[in-house]
Amino acid sequence: MPTFEYAPAPESRSIVDIRSSYGLFINGDFVDGKSGETRKTVNPASEEVLAEVVEAGAADVDAAVSAARYAYDRVWSRMRGADRAKYLYRIARIVQERARELAVLESIDNGKPIRESRDVDIPLVAAHFFYYAGWADKLQHAGFGPDPRPIGVAGQVIPWNFPLLMLAWKIAPALAAGNTVVLKPAETTPLTALAFAEICRQAELPPGVVNIITGGGDTGRALVEHADVDKVAFTGSTEVGRAIAKSIAGSPKRLTLELGGKAANIVFDDAPIDQAVEGIVNGIFFNQGHVCCAGSRLLVQESIAEPLLDSLKRRMALLRVGDPLDKNTDVGAINSAAQLERIRELSAAGEAEGADRWSPPCDLPARGFWFAPTLFTGVSQAHRIAREEIFGPVLSVLTFRTPAEAVEKANNTPYGLSAGVWTEKGSRILAIADQLRAGVVWANTFNKFDPASPFGGYKESGYGREGGRHGLEAYLAH
Ligand code: NDP
Repeated sequence: MPTFEYAPAPESRSIVDIRSSYGLFINGDFVDGKSGETRKTVNPASEEVLAEVVEAGAADVDAAVSAARYAYDRVWSRMRGADRAKYLYRIARIVQERARELAVLESIDNGKPIRESRDVDIPLVAAHFFYYAGWADKLQHAGFGPDPRPIGVAGQVIPWNFPLLMLAWKIAPALAAGNTVVLKPAETTPLTALAFAEICRQAELPPGVVNIITGGGDTGRALVEHADVDKVAFTGSTEVGRAIAKSIAGSPKRLTLELGGKAANIVFDDAPIDQAVEGIVNGIFFNQGHVCCAGSRLLVQESIAEPLLDSLKRRMALLRVGDPLDKNTDVGAINSAAQLERIRELSAAGEAEGADRWSPPCDLPARGFWFAPTLFTGVSQAHRIAREEIFGPVLSVLTFRTPAEAVEKANNTPYGLSAGVWTEKGSRILAIADQLRAGVVWANTFNKFDPASPFGGYKESGYGREGGRHGLEAYLAH
């Protein structure tokens, strides 16, 4: 049978206008930083410098928090829910109108394939604003008492893996509930948050309701430790989450943490293999594996391990790694040199500890940060690659014989964010899901997100829920 090569299908980047430098978005305006320090953000697929952004210092954080406080006291907390909703609906509509531009910008700054930013991230961003707009005038019916009140100023720190989507997860419920926010995007992916600042202006959101400050870990620390912040919301590594929990312990600040994961994707011998293989691939190679709920541990029933792995390898060989702006690309660039180094180090540890490493033949571009989709078999539960979050396109395969063994292995992790179960028996799905210590359990699917569905973890994966009615609770005093 003849085979056909894919022709390149690049998305044009001309729809995006990236400025050479950006200020901070405070009180409805872009302002220069007081710290005088800046940092550059690069395209991880080419290492090209995209723009210079401010490294906000303590005085900048202070200005942003003051603006948020003023807007909270004078405007936003007093506004009727129905009126707040109008702004959220307006933001959602503008995100939809500018979706193509936002998707291209996200792929350029983050390295994720355009297919993903276009079809998953940006539509979900709009969906979150639509969803929480709907709640803004119905808070008294949310099950948190007859007269739930906003908390005040929220300090929000987000990671680089889903930059605009994490912003939406944080800002939409906060605003719907009547809080104002200061948000810090990750240092490697500030551009869509800054584009969102423009959207706030376009929506004529009152000044100070949303403030965006750029910078690194020190900026994040100054924000979460600021005395006038009432509520902290953080998504990122368990290590930083732990430091934040410690730093605000004993203060009246409210805290939600969404941290790492090491999800088990459990495939039983009665699962439809082709569908399971698609689910496994989506579970770990979606977004280059930079996903806190990634199915990074495949637990496969021993009797079907061989055919399943054969089929998985055939499927992995078809993954197209390369230019994030090419619409045929499945796996884009690793977000930063530092993250690439971490993936390399953990993968080398996997080999050193005796697991078998396999990747399909794969030409990686010469410039930029790249890592071929990788599979480890012969993995034991003690191996680092079975215990630590790699946060890259690396799958560790373990086997089991009985459902009880599957559950025990799945739960043998300090994390508890997500899990997957593949079987044709509904009763087995329910029985296994009931025993899994994970905030989200997908059955015969993986990495499915919906704004109406709560998301969050147990154990070292953090606490609190984002999304759905549950997601409002973190932003309401009741
Ligand atoms: P971090 O947890 O360091 O980054 C998350 C966010 O927190 C970023 O905005 C970061 O700023 C900020 N930050 C860093 N230090 C502090 C601090 N002391 N106080 C307040 N905010 C802070 O993750 P990394 O990017 O360093 O990634 C390291 C590892 O974490 C990854 O390899 C991965 O395993 C895991 N990770 C997990 C994520 C998840 O969703 N579960 C998301 C991201 C990473 P800045 O980036 O500007 O320094």
